[in-house]
Amino acid sequence: MDAKTESKTFQHFIGGDWLDAEGGATFEDLNPLDDSLYARVARGSGNDMRKAITAARTAFPAYRDTTPTERERLLLRVAEIMEARQQDLVDCLIDEIGSPIQKAMFEFTKGLTMVRAAAGMCRNVRGETIPSDRPGTLSMSIREPLGVVAVITPFNVPLIKTTRLVANALAVGNTVVHLPSEMAPHLSVIFAEIVAEAGFPAGAYNVVTGMGAEIGDDLTSSKDIDFLTFTGSTVVGQHINEICARNKTPNTLELGGKSPTVILADADLDKVMPLAARSVFMFAGQACIASSRFYVERPLYDEFVKRFSMIVGKLGMGDLRDPNTVIAPAISPRQRDRIKAHIEDAKAKGATVVAGGEWENNRCQPTLLTGVDEEMTVCKSETFGPVTSIYPIDSYEEGLEKANDTEYGLSSAIFTRDIDKAFHFARNIGAGMCHINGPTIHDEAHVPFGGNGESGVGREGTDADMEAMTELKWVTVQL
Ligand code: NAD
Repeated sequence: MDAKTESKTFQHFIGGDWLDAEGGATFEDLNPLDDSLYARVARGSGNDMRKAITAARTAFPAYRDTTPTERERLLLRVAEIMEARQQDLVDCLIDEIGSPIQKAMFEFTKGLTMVRAAAGMCRNVRGETIPSDRPGTLSMSIREPLGVVAVITPFNVPLIKTTRLVANALAVGNTVVHLPSEMAPHLSVIFAEIVAEAGFPAGAYNVVTGMGAEIGDDLTSSKDIDFLTFTGSTVVGQHINEICARNKTPNTLELGGKSPTVILADADLDKVMPLAARSVFMFAGQACIASSRFYVERPLYDEFVKRFSMIVGKLGMGDLRDPNTVIAPAISPRQRDRIKAHIEDAKAKGATVVAGGEWENNRCQPTLLTGVDEEMTVCKSETFGPVTSIYPIDSYEEGLEKANDTEYGLSSAIFTRDIDKAFHFARNIGAGMCHINGPTIHDEAHVPFGGNGESGVGREGTDADMEAMTELKWVTVQL
């Protein structure tokens, strides 16, 4: 059975059934371009969440025992159906969260790769034999799925996060309860339709839509979940971390960022400039790994600011289906207020807006700030919008020190031809990821993706999730 797409009221997917929320409650899912109604969506309750957790728990014993071949076949079938439904997914990424077509296509392609990479995990759920001091003993470790995995995803890359985390959990034999962002629920509903069509058993994947603030705790504090993976803001991540600590629920937390890019005097600006623009303005800065701080060695500083201003002035802000459009609307009134507050605070305290700073409806022009200091909110806090600050530095050492002057630690980048400085930076930057002569925005299915400090705990990716979403059991046989 399909969700009620024809009337555009989207339901939960629980135990293989499409269900209304308890009492028929719904909420409005708005198109951020003009705040028009995109869809009505089931507004889940605690009881709906408990129903989903029970469905996942009930499905687990049989699902755990499916063969690797079967799970691999199901995941590859998901990828096939995703390809057939490319238009639906891309349209949803455009109209539900305001993705420009370039970003929507990038996300679709990446999402496909995530599912195919997960299919490759199924045959690799491996333990090992272990030498034993006890004569005549065969000793081994067996890798087992954990049980029910809670997946909580953000609005900005809903397809990448859903495909990666749900597919990785299912690949190794877990069942899943998914709470998608209230700003991107339809994307997960389409994914659930695809999973159902692929033939996954009822209850293997469950989606409960609704307000995270209302029903998040019903998921995260449940004693019936065995692992939790959360991607979202640091403040919500901190709250979840405390709940997980109380319940001893293992988890990975992928949180916010304030990622730095250091550009040394020997860098080739012809190569740096297009990458610099891509590393911050893709999806209008609504990327956890967006570079929101540029530290440029003084000999290149003026030229960098001049060229960057010219580039950002040309970034398209037109129709989201026009391939030249780069700048997206900010997702919500709350987020728009935050971006405005960061820019106004910086201006009031003496920063210079060298490009952008104005709004066209719900879109903020790509904005470059100079003269930013520590008193300004934008200096240290995540803006999550098309805003970045450019700072002059007098040496590599100053660049490293300033880049490390943050409580976050997600992505980082350095542009230089000096291999010693580049590797010194990679070793000494307090971030989970570092790109030499490449932009901070970079992700692949099989890499250890994640951050340190306020940016989170743990890593995700096929290898990392194999470790995180399974547990080793020690087994001996006395021969
Ligand atoms: P958010 O924290 O507002 O919401 C994320 C998810 O948490 C949503 O699904 C929401 O429903 C849910 N939620 C809200 N309250 C909850 C609660 N009490 N319990 C459980 N779940 C709850 O974040 P957002 O605005 O959707 O996303 C933007 C943030 O996500 C930014 O800070 C960004 O840096 C971060 N992010 C991080 C990564 C990463 O990999 N590190 C990737 C993408 C986004």
